[in-house]
Amino acid sequence: MLRHFALMALAMTVFYCAGPRTGDRTVDSQEVTTYQETWKAELAEAQDILEQLETLEGPGTVETVLEPLNDLLMIVITGVSSANLQANVHPDPAMRSAAEEAQQVFSNLNTDIGLSRPIYEAVAGLDVSGETADTRRFVELILRDYRRSGVDKDEETRERIRQLQEELVGISQEFGRNIREDVRSIQLAGTEDLDGLPQDYIDTHQPGEDGVITITTDYPEFYPYMTYAHSELRRKGLYQAFLQRAYPQNLDVLDRMMDRRYELANLLGYPTWADFVTEIQMIRTPQATQTFVDQLTEAARPALERDMALLLERLKQIDPQAASIGIWQRYYLPELISRETYDFDSQETRPYFAYDKVRDGLLTLTSRMFGVTYTRLEETAWHPSVEIYQLWSGDDLLGKFYLDMHPREGKFKHGGMFRIAPGVDARQLPQAAIVCNFPGGENDQPGFMGHNQVRTFFHEFGHLLQTLFSGHHRWISLSGIAEFDFVEVPSTIMEEWTWDLASLHTFATNADGEPIPEELVSRMQASRMFAYALWIQRQVALSAIALNFYNRDPLDVNTTTLLKEVQDRYNPYLYMDDTCLQCNFSHLSGYSALYYTYMWSMVIARDLFSEFEKGGLLNPEVAMRFRESVLEPGALKSGTELVRDFLGRDYSFKAFEVWLKGD
Ligand SMILES: [Zn+2]
Repeated sequence: MLRHFALMALAMTVFYCAGPRTGDRTVDSQEVTTYQETWKAELAEAQDILEQLETLEGPGTVETVLEPLNDLLMIVITGVSSANLQANVHPDPAMRSAAEEAQQVFSNLNTDIGLSRPIYEAVAGLDVSGETADTRRFVELILRDYRRSGVDKDEETRERIRQLQEELVGISQEFGRNIREDVRSIQLAGTEDLDGLPQDYIDTHQPGEDGVITITTDYPEFYPYMTYAHSELRRKGLYQAFLQRAYPQNLDVLDRMMDRRYELANLLGYPTWADFVTEIQMIRTPQATQTFVDQLTEAARPALERDMALLLERLKQIDPQAASIGIWQRYYLPELISRETYDFDSQETRPYFAYDKVRDGLLTLTSRMFGVTYTRLEETAWHPSVEIYQLWSGDDLLGKFYLDMHPREGKFKHGGMFRIAPGVDARQLPQAAIVCNFPGGENDQPGFMGHNQVRTFFHEFGHLLQTLFSGHHRWISLSGIAEFDFVEVPSTIMEEWTWDLASLHTFATNADGEPIPEELVSRMQASRMFAYALWIQRQVALSAIALNFYNRDPLDVNTTTLLKEVQDRYNPYLYMDDTCLQCNFSHLSGYSALYYTYMWSMVIARDLFSEFEKGGLLNPEVAMRFRESVLEPGALKSGTELVRDFLGRDYSFKAFEVWLKGD
């Protein structure tokens, strides 16, 4: 419920995808006015409930305390979440600003609830021993959050907490806005700088009237260029531009964010922000996080050394003087080796992954597996390209979702699942949106996707299904996931279907309707493990950076110096001068010290996936069991319990270690 609950909701929004096109929709000021009237009416309703709860007399009951609190949280969390989405996707800057204002106001109210002694005392005074498990769990989570909110502090301290919480919302918005609005670009010397790129990319990047070819840092331009362009010089230039986004403005924003979070953690009785945020995760402490990071580094080392040697050997064929691998080579060199050693060229799969086919394939596949159906709604959302669907299980409507899948100006640049409204049984239908930057859409047909983008789509859909399936409890706090480091488990598992031949054969066909060839999929699978350790080590380095920015007093931290130190220790690539990774590492805001979540979830996902491997990936029986024992319970159970229910035992690292060894 508390600020942290909202933080969690926001944090789930960031993941991989792709970027650019102009926002061509103009919005009249009436839309802004209507929006403001709507959220202000909801706010007024919430304030009424808050007042009613704070003035409650006599011993409370489930009906007089928990029900109104549930209503209150429903309005506040929906207010924060839907405003967060609009601030990130709306084509009109005036609407994005209005949404940021709403987000701030609802977040403030969320803080007020967390600091309300009368509500805390009313909940703490309830006897729920005779209530059902879901009610007892709701109270447990509410009291846990109250213990962490500062409700027991004196008035002066609570006022400072209130100020810090409010300021932090603004700081996070500023951090994200600076990244979203800073699109960088490089100019090519001529068409020869497009050598190596796919033909459709070359066709759409011919010189303009001024004779200039511009490549921007938006994903649909950036990633293909980094993967295929032969020009070392331009790739290096583009990567540098990519790592300069939001520089220098976010240096100061980040310092303020770290400083305020540290102060807040101290006021709440924790030595650092990392101690505060890890406490309620499966991992529990910053020390355990550090241990996990080091354990992964050890596990990945043999494969990493082997891969790095191969990359360097290949690079020396291009540049005999080469002594190390630069970060601008991290997509290009593995692609070269994959092509030469595994005979797999990632461009070969693109004709089979037209955007519409992938979307329809994903819907059909998940429909078969999870026993659900989808209905497309002919409504209009915030942009004409956004599609709206309903999710059904038999005659039960389980949720509504939006697909906002193609880039435009001012839109969120990454890929992510945004929760819009947490579901509450019989009260509020769960709603969510997938926001990505894939090729395709109205101006760009047919939008051939890379396999990595197909994976991203499946990944975000895993988040979506979990959000919609879990949103049917009586109490709002049970919708979602209890521990944030379990969040990436369903999404990581969903990616696996994009590697499976039988699954691919249900949708991946080229323009002539021919299915993706089996031998092509075999070559793709064979190349999968190559450079996997490199990717893991990169994730480990990002986890270590995020942890180390938050596990100490920020007074002692110069983020650039600390970043270099941590990079030197963990990153497989050398530090690149004149860059500012921390300025555009968007997770430093939403995930803060918890970037390790991806790897932690991956370890668990690998273990859970063994059930699908045994039972068959298209076996609806296993998928239904997964839906019922892992996706639907939401925060009713801890991650440990969800795993135990599905596997019949505790999770272990074994499956992941065996997987990483690759033999
Ligand atoms: Zn994710």
